[in-house]
Amino acid sequence: MKTSIIGYPRIGSLRELKFASEKYFKGELSEAELQNTAKELRLKNLKEQKESGLDFIPSNDFSFYDGMLDTAFLLNAVSKRYKELGLSELDEYFAAARGYQGENGDVKALAMKKWFNTNYHYMVPEIDDDTEIKLLGSKPFELFKEALANGIKTKSVLIGPFTFLELARYTGKKTKEDFAEATANAYIDIIAKLSELGAEWVQLDEPYLVKDLSQEDIALFRALYQKILENKKGIKVILQTYFGDIRDCYNEATALDFDGIGLDFVEGRKTLELVKSNDFSKDKILFAGIVNGKNIWKNHYTKSFEVLNELKKQGINFVVGTSCSLLHVPYTLENETKLSDDYKKYFAYASEKLLELAEIKKIIESANPFETAEYKANAELFTQPRSGSNAEIREKVQALSTTDFTRFPTFAEREKIQKEKFKLPLFPTTTIGSFPQTAEVRKIRAGFRKGEISETDYESFLKEKISNCINLQEQIGMDVLVHGEFERNDMVEYFGECLDGYLFTEKAWVQSYGTRCVKPPIVWGDISRAKSITVKWSSYAQSLTEKPVKGMLTGPVTILNWSFPREDISLKESAYQIALAIREEVLDLEANGINIIQIDEAALREKLPLRRSDWNSEYLDWAIPAFRLVHSGVKPETQIHTHMCYSEFADIIEDIDNMDADVITFEASRSDLTILDVLKAKNFRTEVGPGVYDIHSPRIPTKEEIKSALKKMLDRIPAEKLWVNPDCGLKTRGNEETIPSLENLVVAAKEVRNTYNE
Ligand code: GLN
Ligand code: ZN
Repeated sequence: MKTSIIGYPRIGSLRELKFASEKYFKGELSEAELQNTAKELRLKNLKEQKESGLDFIPSNDFSFYDGMLDTAFLLNAVSKRYKELGLSELDEYFAAARGYQGENGDVKALAMKKWFNTNYHYMVPEIDDDTEIKLLGSKPFELFKEALANGIKTKSVLIGPFTFLELARYTGKKTKEDFAEATANAYIDIIAKLSELGAEWVQLDEPYLVKDLSQEDIALFRALYQKILENKKGIKVILQTYFGDIRDCYNEATALDFDGIGLDFVEGRKTLELVKSNDFSKDKILFAGIVNGKNIWKNHYTKSFEVLNELKKQGINFVVGTSCSLLHVPYTLENETKLSDDYKKYFAYASEKLLELAEIKKIIESANPFETAEYKANAELFTQPRSGSNAEIREKVQALSTTDFTRFPTFAEREKIQKEKFKLPLFPTTTIGSFPQTAEVRKIRAGFRKGEISETDYESFLKEKISNCINLQEQIGMDVLVHGEFERNDMVEYFGECLDGYLFTEKAWVQSYGTRCVKPPIVWGDISRAKSITVKWSSYAQSLTEKPVKGMLTGPVTILNWSFPREDISLKESAYQIALAIREEVLDLEANGINIIQIDEAALREKLPLRRSDWNSEYLDWAIPAFRLVHSGVKPETQIHTHMCYSEFADIIEDIDNMDADVITFEASRSDLTILDVLKAKNFRTEVGPGVYDIHSPRIPTKEEIKSALKKMLDRIPAEKLWVNPDCGLKTRGNEETIPSLENLVVAAKEVRNTYNE
């Protein structure tokens, strides 16, 4: 029995690659120094993997920025605008990743998109009609040789031709099919070159196969691989899939001449069923993904052995591995110095997952697997009751019924009541919540966290910031005010800290894109509200003004999607628990005189399943109710807002309407207001504030440009439903641009209001 992983994190256990790259960008590090850091990190990974006893050790899973971008460079699928800069190879690569502005020109970066259902983002390659796809780069070969020189014959890992062509953007008339032959040829050349270097295995990652596939997709997949596999040059090729099951092409995939097929038994709900009900050829190896590559919990061996025993029963040759690349988990528990062993014994980051694979191998190979110490210790861990369970919360969730998810009275009646109550002008103006988090704010907050600033001093500082923020908004003439969110650095962490059941880590960084990493908190136990979260700040802000102040909360779906979730209960149950906790906060705000409450769901779409047929049953059927549960208990005259940004809304617009908020604000200016047509077509009921300007740019929008955006909006949205606001929170901006931008926004709204009334 052998073990395999699909890929490993590359940013460094202490984010060494991030820091070195950022220094290189600033000119503080030479290319040679950066290459050196990268090499050290790669060799460290290889050594660790080798020492763990791993059999299939990957190479070419390293990247300076992103694997799709690497593939584009390898295949010569790089837009001319980067080549024309005349930069060094590495700088041309970074220009495509990050954009370039300097002596050699001014070009934008490639677009960035979410990598399937993860929080990792890939660069979208651009293929022009005259792009000539061919093998050009040499990274996979260099890295194969580097490992070989260090005594390890690796499995070379590449993004496969099918996924590459499916995810690329075609700028001209040609389509992916037009590039299929050249792409297949390039992969044939890659394989030939690896074969020359002495490689035995190559792994081609094809996660796109777990999506809903059309007949054309399947035909493209088959055409590419028929050709590639006819020219294997003695190399063994693994078709590696992950993030789901390959129900649409299982038979096509197994009929092709692959030597190994990697299947995901963790997220692939149908994988086992597919393997059981179809023949899996005895001459192929099944790379069984049973150790979760996306979450931080230890593997439950009892469950894994149910799968492995079934494979054994079928007489299938298998290798045990991870469900996807370990890129999506942090490096090592060794860096978690503050977390006690009572918690840590349940967790496995990337390096602990290597040890799990070694243990599973040992267990399988022993004469009495279930009698081994390793197996027993693992079984014991999962039978022990875990701390953090809360019977009261569980019962509450159990007892929920339809009325708990339904707000009364109907939307239309509430709308009338609220118009009466707030008497807001037409096109009310508001912001999304945060105001500029200046260096001063960050410094004082850090000082408080380190214990250098007392709680009283910190509170008076925050109150002063809130008071200034309220004054500023009154001066500018905003209609619905916010307190500014100076107390929080992160919209999930801040809430998690006030909830029982959450755990925080020190170094559990996961790459999100390029040099950016995130550190998701862990849902450890049953969630409940430990203390009030925002009431103090919101009611203080409200005490300073006659105008309504909007309370500002993060919604349950976003909190859950930006955390490592539990595996012992369903996502639905966790979401409902979080929803009940936030619901308490909502009612607390209401009881304390806050009449407008915004519940942000920036990440609502993030975990939408990859297959459309699973959207409702697997996700929306609980995600939307979770949001409704948060606000269904408020009075008719309390106005509920929500906010969403930077994702596609069009295809779930009806579900968004079903969240039954009174008002939704969202980012719209980057997508050129295209969302408006959908709102109109679907007769969107919720009042809406499509952002009138992009907050990612320091540019100050002119009054005229805001007015023209509003006029466009009025063509499609009934006047009495339209709000005026920026795209998103202002925390990353400075006051210099925020103040004039909001001034222009208010004047624009007033002028449109006046002409509209005439
Ligand atoms: N209320 C939050 C803010 O203004 C929303 C942030 C977000 O949408 N990501 O910062
Ligand atoms: Zn936003």
